[in-house]
Amino acid sequence: MKVVRVVEYHQNLQLDEAPEPKITSPLDVIVKIGAAGVCRTDIHILEGQWADKSGVKLPYTIGHENAGWVHAKGDAVTGIEVGDAVILHPLVTCGFCRACRFGDDVHCENSTFPGINVDGGYAEYLKTTARSVIKLDPKLKPADVAALADAGLTAYHAAMKAAKLLRPSEFCVIIGAGGLGHIGIQVMKAISGATLIVIDRNTAALDLAKQLGADHIVQADDSGSFVEKVLPLTQNKGAEAVLDFVAESGATATGIKMLRRAGNYYVVGYGENINIPTIDMISTEINIIGNLVGSYNDLVELMALAEQGKVKLHTTEYKLEDFQRAIDDLSNGKVRGRAILVP
Ligand SMILES: [Zn+2]
Ligand SMILES: [Zn+2]
Repeated sequence: MKVVRVVEYHQNLQLDEAPEPKITSPLDVIVKIGAAGVCRTDIHILEGQWADKSGVKLPYTIGHENAGWVHAKGDAVTGIEVGDAVILHPLVTCGFCRACRFGDDVHCENSTFPGINVDGGYAEYLKTTARSVIKLDPKLKPADVAALADAGLTAYHAAMKAAKLLRPSEFCVIIGAGGLGHIGIQVMKAISGATLIVIDRNTAALDLAKQLGADHIVQADDSGSFVEKVLPLTQNKGAEAVLDFVAESGATATGIKMLRRAGNYYVVGYGENINIPTIDMISTEINIIGNLVGSYNDLVELMALAEQGKVKLHTTEYKLEDFQRAIDDLSNGKVRGRAILVP
């Protein structure tokens, strides 16, 4: 089968032939890929940023945002049939460790992450297990939802944590209305009664935010003056929640100033360090909360919102062979919505 592999760091991906994956264990599922999302993490992988963390042996096939159709399944797999359309939770988890038993898949002690540390979905077929497969409603096509498997899931996971605590009349600030942010806005709109204030530098992103239901939009610039624009919208008390989908270029330091006392700051994007005087943390009881991907159940819930038409992903489709153009377009900020590769 055709695969797109990392052959060396700091080199372009390469189109190769590789053997199709085989069922080797009773709970294995082999999926014919319908679409694989192209993610900024893929670029970070090529830059070697994940080399030590993942310990993956090169060459290997990348692609961690996958959806398709069940192609083959092990003897013990029930509830899905060959041909069913499915989206894949990005991790392959054991089901037996403490985290798995809490439903906290991301912290499984014996997991693999196809596309990060084993072969992923820039390919015609991918091997996962029954624990990671979610059957799609007939309304949803693999290509429409593939990128929700990681980008959307991460946004949902953070937004849902915030929404659990937010009450109507309270405020939620969203920093960044791009790939993850535009999902976060739709999720918050669907599950929370909080007032949404969305910040971005980009006018087009803010227009989209408004269309998706943001109550207020605020344009950011280098001066960090958006704090002065946001606080009056909250009667100068600050927001109960800030969802930071950027966390670069000073967004966090400025973002924290928009929190109300005892407010929660959800870090989703990454890149910069947080430097806060501890006296400010204890005197205001603010919380800073990390967010990593999401659980299997988070993805089930996100699929319910997608099926109800409440979360829609904007995508640009590329053929698997055109992987380089997709990566280049993403690097150059030319992708509208999310790029997906279709074998
Ligand atoms: Zn991703
Ligand atoms: Zn586990």
